[in-house]
Amino acid sequence: MKKLFIDIGGTHLRSEVWSENDVITEYIRSQEHGLLSYIDRVMLQHPDISFIGISYAGQVDQGVLVASPNINIDEYDIASAVKSRYGIPLKIDNDLNCAIRAEAAYWKSDSIAALFVGTGIGAAVIDQGKLVRGSRNMAFEIGHIPYRETPLLCGCGRSNCIELYASGSGISKWLTLYGREQNPNLEQLKNSIIAEERSIAAEFEKAVLHAAGVLVTLSNPEILVLGGGIVEQNPYLVPFVRENLKDYALNPSLKTLQIERSVLDNAPLAGAKLLENSNG
Ligand SMILES: [Zn+2]
Repeated sequence: MKKLFIDIGGTHLRSEVWSENDVITEYIRSQEHGLLSYIDRVMLQHPDISFIGISYAGQVDQGVLVASPNINIDEYDIASAVKSRYGIPLKIDNDLNCAIRAEAAYWKSDSIAALFVGTGIGAAVIDQGKLVRGSRNMAFEIGHIPYRETPLLCGCGRSNCIELYASGSGISKWLTLYGREQNPNLEQLKNSIIAEERSIAAEFEKAVLHAAGVLVTLSNPEILVLGGGIVEQNPYLVPFVRENLKDYALNPSLKTLQIERSVLDNAPLAGAKLLENSNG
C-alpha cells in the first residue's frame, strides 16, 4: 500500500509517494493543475495509494477548501470527492497547522508557536498540546491582521494587511511598484544605493517584528519557531528577531521564550505525514 503526501505552497507543489521502502518526489508549479486533477494523475500512476495527506497554503475547514490566494481550485470539497472517486481517506490542513505539528514533534514541546515567512506570512499555535483552530480553522491568520494602509492589494482583497510588508509577495509587490528588479535577498536590499529598496527591507523587518510580537504576546509560547523560504534565504532574521523582539512584545512573556529557526527540510510536508494519525 502506498501513501501520497502533498505540500501545496504559494508557488510550488511538492508531492511524495511513499511505499514500504522508497519515495518518489515531484515538484511542479502550483498553478499548473487543479488539486483534484493532480490527484487523478497520481492515482492513475499509483492506483494502490491508500491515504492522502495534504498541507495547503490557504484556508481549509474539515476537508473543504475555503479560499486560496495563489492556487487553482477545481474542487472545493476535496476530501469527499476523493472518498467517492477512490474510496480512500484524504486529510488536509492549512500549511502552518501542518508545520506546527511537525515542529512540536521535533522540539518536543506542547506550547509552541510558528511564524513562517515565505510567499505569505503565516502562524500557528499549539497550546497545552492542542492545536488552536478557531471555529472555522482560521485562528492565527496573522498575515491578514490590519497593519498600515498601502497602495497595494493583498490576496484577501484588502490593502492594509501586514502580509503586504512582511512577506515575499509583499516585497515583490513593492519592488514592482517602484519599478525595481525582483530580489528576495534582504541584505542586498538593505545595502542598496536605491532609497526605495532600503526602505522596503526596513519596513519588512519592522513588520516581521510586529507580527512576531503580536503572536508571542497573544499566545505566550515556550518556543517560537521561525521558518519559510524568506527566513531560509535570510538566516540573519532569526538573531535579528531574538535581539529586537523586546520592543514588540509583552516583556514577561519573553523571559523564558526560546526563539529557534526551523531545521526541518519542509515542515508543512512533514506535518502532512502526521495527519493520518491525528485527531486534533
Ligand atoms: Zn490580506
